[in-house]
Amino acid sequence: MVHFSQTREVITKNLVETQQFAEDFAQSLTGGAVLLLYGDLGAGKTSFTQGLAKGLGIEKRVLSPTFLIMRTYTLNTEEVKYFHHVDLYRLQTEQEIIDLGLPELMKNSSTITVIEWPEKLGNLLPKNAWKLSFETQSEYERKITIQHDN
Ligand code: ADP
Ligand code: MG
Repeated sequence: MVHFSQTREVITKNLVETQQFAEDFAQSLTGGAVLLLYGDLGAGKTSFTQGLAKGLGIEKRVLSPTFLIMRTYTLNTEEVKYFHHVDLYRLQTEQEIIDLGLPELMKNSSTITVIEWPEKLGNLLPKNAWKLSFETQSEYERKITIQHDN
């Protein structure tokens, strides 16, 4: 079996560019996609997710799920029914992630799941996920590195 991974790097110069890039990027996603968003606080993970939601046709405003851990949005398409936005920043144990039902959600082919702070997944890290790293280069510049194993 041929196994390779592709890496792509994008520099954005402001918030709108990050959201616009995410909106376009949403078109590469199909049902069952899991996106792991790595990066420090303020690096742009939630901003990216807002653009992604817009690109998927979600009109509701996407707010950071930090205090709720997970917010779910409904889509009007045949293939993808739900968009889950998860922020694991506040979770302490893998058991809490299991209790949240996240391992099952990530296997569902009619959902798209975005996870901020995926480091917290530990052994529950899914295979075949998109991995995106956000790096703050300067006040308004961000480097987004995208990797997908296939
Ligand atoms: P995270 O979810 O990674 O903690 P947020 O998306 O909540 O980050 O916050 C990013 C912050 O950085 C926002 O205040 C946003 O306005 C600001 N910002 C400045 N430049 C950019 C950029 N190029 N891309 C994304 N956000 C940016
Ligand atoms: Mg965030």
